[in-house]
Amino acid sequence: IKIKITDIDIPVAFASAFEGEIIRRKDMQVEFDGSRVDCAELVQTKNMDEVEDHKITVVGPEVDTFEEGSKHSLAYVVEVAGKKMQPDFEPVIERKFHNYINCIEGVYHTGQRDMFRIRISKDAFNAGFRAKHFGEVLYAQVKNEFEAVVDKCAVTIYTDPAECTRIRHEVAIPTFDRRDERLDTLTDESVDVYYSCILCQAFSPSHVCVVTPERLGLCGAVSWLDAKATHELDPNGPCQVITKERPIDENLGSYEDVDEAVQKFSQGALEHVTLYSIMQDPMTSCGCFECICGIEPFSNGVVIANREYAGMTPLGMTFPEMASMTGGGVQTPGFMGHGKHFISSKKFMKAEGGIERIVWMPKELKDTVAERLNKTAQELYGIENFTDMIGDETVATDPEALVEFLTEKGHPALSMEPMM
Ligand code: SF4
Ligand code: ZN
Repeated sequence: IKIKITDIDIPVAFASAFEGEIIRRKDMQVEFDGSRVDCAELVQTKNMDEVEDHKITVVGPEVDTFEEGSKHSLAYVVEVAGKKMQPDFEPVIERKFHNYINCIEGVYHTGQRDMFRIRISKDAFNAGFRAKHFGEVLYAQVKNEFEAVVDKCAVTIYTDPAECTRIRHEVAIPTFDRRDERLDTLTDESVDVYYSCILCQAFSPSHVCVVTPERLGLCGAVSWLDAKATHELDPNGPCQVITKERPIDENLGSYEDVDEAVQKFSQGALEHVTLYSIMQDPMTSCGCFECICGIEPFSNGVVIANREYAGMTPLGMTFPEMASMTGGGVQTPGFMGHGKHFISSKKFMKAEGGIERIVWMPKELKDTVAERLNKTAQELYGIENFTDMIGDETVATDPEALVEFLTEKGHPALSMEPMM
């Protein structure tokens, strides 16, 4: 028999009422920040005899040894076992951690995978909240919500910085890469349905992601395979099937079916959404986009900034400034939040000419996506080493210097039709 865990053994409250709670810097006791130090959250499928149910382990110092207001590494690995468990369900369980941790009174979570940020408030800390309590929450919620597939669950929380580095680079990132590679064989044309995702409506009530094989959710954590698994695990849950039987314009990626779905799931706030355009009815953004792209009028192209990038872009805006224009479930033609993986997709703003429009990216992001992006540019346009033509902060952070660089490199965007 399966037993619902109604009482989670933590010293603060746990309820969805705390989900939208924001913890300001001055109110926080400690912070874990994946964009600055090594962090990771991961689910691993194990055999039944490998998991001791409800075992919670903390590897490293507890948070009461940390200085008030300080920043630390954190990794948590949730091991699950069950006869019906499938590795395809791992990312679906993982994506729920955002919601579980946010429901803790005085704890805030944003992001996912190895790019999350968690804050513990002074109040929660003073009430006795410690790192081990993440284990209690994750254990209870995973057992409750995934009882159909998870029979046993154990959680290890790492606060030791060297262990966090090891988990992130040797365990988590290779797992994320493997999952991403599985998708590479699928195209939007090769599948019969897309999926909606409304997991982020707690923060952005009218936001709907339409997830396709070649366009993952803007958080970077929900691929078409994940959305499919979510739907299988919970047929009435956040991911619903969207048929694609009535195309309006294949180049824009507009469908009557998609429009009907976003109308329904946004409670009428959205009427039309295209899958492949940044200018015409672009998809909305919540707040957890990995990247934002925005048009750069002087070069006819687009600039992309990722969340980790703290500097200036040639748009005269930083990432947070671009984010303030893009988030909240509103359509902002010319700006769009998206996942990192989408940058090398053949469907990336295909309606405006595709990846050929990319003129600038932070160097680190460019290095991360280079291999895949260059492969796509080679296949679509026969361009070798396309990333060499794309500017970054070491070349230019203002439009004049950028255009000069692009001209020197013969970047294709310069001779394309204006976007506006
Ligand atoms: Fe789902 Fe989109 Fe939110 Fe990701 S960003 S969890 S795909 S609604
Ligand atoms: Zn979101």
